[in-house]
Amino acid sequence: MLQEGSTVRLKVGISSCLMGDEVRFDGGHKRSAFATDELTRHIDLVRFCPEVGIGMPVPRPTIRLEKHANDGSETVEAVVPKTGEIVTTKLSEFADKIQIKAKDLSGYILCAKSPSCGMERVKLYDPETGHARKEATGIFASRLQENNPAMPLEEDGRLNDPHLRENFIMRVYVYGQWKQIEDTPTKNNLLSFHSSCKLLLLAHNQQRYRELGKRLGEADTVNAEFATQYIRDVMEALSEPASRRNHTNVLQHIQGYFKGDLEHQQREELSDIILQYHDGILPLMSPLTLIKHYLREFPKEYLENQWYLNPYPVDLKLRYGL
Ligand code: SF4
Repeated sequence: MLQEGSTVRLKVGISSCLMGDEVRFDGGHKRSAFATDELTRHIDLVRFCPEVGIGMPVPRPTIRLEKHANDGSETVEAVVPKTGEIVTTKLSEFADKIQIKAKDLSGYILCAKSPSCGMERVKLYDPETGHARKEATGIFASRLQENNPAMPLEEDGRLNDPHLRENFIMRVYVYGQWKQIEDTPTKNNLLSFHSSCKLLLLAHNQQRYRELGKRLGEADTVNAEFATQYIRDVMEALSEPASRRNHTNVLQHIQGYFKGDLEHQQREELSDIILQYHDGILPLMSPLTLIKHYLREFPKEYLENQWYLNPYPVDLKLRYGL
């Protein structure tokens, strides 16, 4: 997909306060160094502050999520405790309002714990007892996800984990590829997408790769509905962690393509490095670097088209910790 040094720039949405904008309830921000210093070199970050977007001032009274009973069913409401105002509908409508812009996004970075932007484990209060459980999703984040079910979402705090960070950015770039064919979901386009995604999918979920390939191969017609379900399943499979074992299988699969090119000693060395990666002695970068070296020497179109080998710009250094 992305050749090293590529100038392709994707758009990713982000909570404004993570960009350093002083829009929080207390007039502060939560600047994310990874987003502002690293990602902006390659990605256009498009900022939104839902609370400011619905007309709330800075600084402002806090909002909290509350569990309310309505006609026998429970709802989650965003409430301003100081005034009693319920702003749930306004926050949901703000997500709908930005949907035209969100359609161009390949991912979204959300500010953790916020009753508007939090992706998970946001405090949900029981107004009767005053007790809170960390079990809700922010109102804006929830509607954003509903409107864009396949789009990768992640929270700022989780991006400090090298595995989660790598996984999110990889999904952003895969989804960016999808955006290029989203409006022309022909069977050929989907087959080509599936083929380039093959090794990535195998590293994350082998069974899902095969199921999706079978479904695609057997489909008489591919329409928008089929494509929507397909990409949701792909993105879900890619969000699963890639195990060392699966990576090892993929690396050995790639190694097979060089069978006729490498001398005995070179083959032994590559096998050895793959096994040392498998045993946790070497990082993933070690076998990948050697494989890319051989790929430059013995070009192979099939492998060059595999996003697994160049999922995102190398200088993001996302595979260093894997
Ligand atoms: S968490 Fe969301 S609503 Fe709160 S300040 Fe940041 S962008 Fe605005």
